[in-house]
Amino acid sequence: MNLADALRSAIEPDRVREQVPLAQSTTLKAGGTADLVVSAHSVGDVVAVQRLASLHGAPVAVLGAGSNLIVADDGVRGIVLRVDGLAWTDIDGDLATIGAGTMNAHAVRAMHKAGYVGAEFLALVPGQFGGSVAMNAGTRWGELSDVLDAVTIVTAAAEVQRLTLGDLKPAYRHGGVPVGAVVVSGVIRVERGDAATARERVREEKRYRGQTQPYQEPCFGSSFANPPGDAAGRLIEAVGAQGVALGRRGDQREARELHRELERRDRAGSCRIDGVGAQVRSRRNRYRAASGGSCVWV
Ligand SMILES: Cc1cc2nc3c(=O)[nH]c(=O)nc-3n(C[C@H](O)[C@H](O)[C@H](O)COP(=O)(O)OP(=O)(O)OC[C@H]3O[C@@H](n4cnc5c(N)ncnc54)[C@H](O)[C@@H]3O)c2cc1C
Repeated sequence: MNLADALRSAIEPDRVREQVPLAQSTTLKAGGTADLVVSAHSVGDVVAVQRLASLHGAPVAVLGAGSNLIVADDGVRGIVLRVDGLAWTDIDGDLATIGAGTMNAHAVRAMHKAGYVGAEFLALVPGQFGGSVAMNAGTRWGELSDVLDAVTIVTAAAEVQRLTLGDLKPAYRHGGVPVGAVVVSGVIRVERGDAATARERVREEKRYRGQTQPYQEPCFGSSFANPPGDAAGRLIEAVGAQGVALGRRGDQREARELHRELERRDRAGSCRIDGVGAQVRSRRNRYRAASGGSCVWV
């Protein structure tokens, strides 16, 4: 039995699709086709996918909300696993358990509705909870590792494991999730508090971000981490590495321009992300050299 049929016999057949274009599943709205896309609705589904992938020697790539990745023009071989079906937020005392497929904003909304506060920064990150664990997502208000207690993963060997923050050892925009593992849920610390004020603070920050960041345009967020004591956008401009980036949000605009370039190439009938990636890489190298090697590409 081939891999697609084996997957169809292990989980609901209509949740296994072949030759699926991925562009519309990423915020950049570009990229190729996946051989197989599987939608998991339970931890058992994820275990089945990992087991069959390993049996057939097929790679597994997890696609969350697609807000921090570039799909290659040539697409993705093997299995693209979606965990949108693992979407829930359960609050018990001062711990909230969140399914990997939950949109961050929904998790924070559920928290506020139950009268809890404590992870408002998550509402500003336009990804799923699992993707945000993988990226140790954060804002100037804090990052996931500040509130994360533990995660449940399914390893590449199809074992369900619970890892604590100490096991993960997260770093800046790097969650420390073992290679090949799929995050299925995580537990964060929350506390009873003034949810109405917290909700309003989130609203205000979203308004501000809406004015200063290209949420409505195809992009994948910031390209560079802020170096200690400085701002990436300012440095990019200071060293003339911005190419087309303008203004104090230079790093954001670089991502926006990347998409414009893609659109231009698409109209010309040759939308090649890889070529544009080389342009971005060359700007990154100039930036890194000029910033004394302190730049971090995120
Ligand atoms: C306009 C805009 C603003 C942004 N602002 C911020 C910000 O302020 N702070 C910030 O940190 N990020 C920001 N981002 C980036 C992005 O939203 C975050 O990195 C987010 O956490 C990615 O989640 P995702 O579900 O979209 O992951 P994806 O982009 O789908 O995936 C990212 C990586 O995580 C892996 N992954 C996804 N889900 C899982 C899983 N369940 N198990 C294991 N691995 C998984 C993927 O394989 C991939 O390697 C922004 C992006 C945009 C477009």
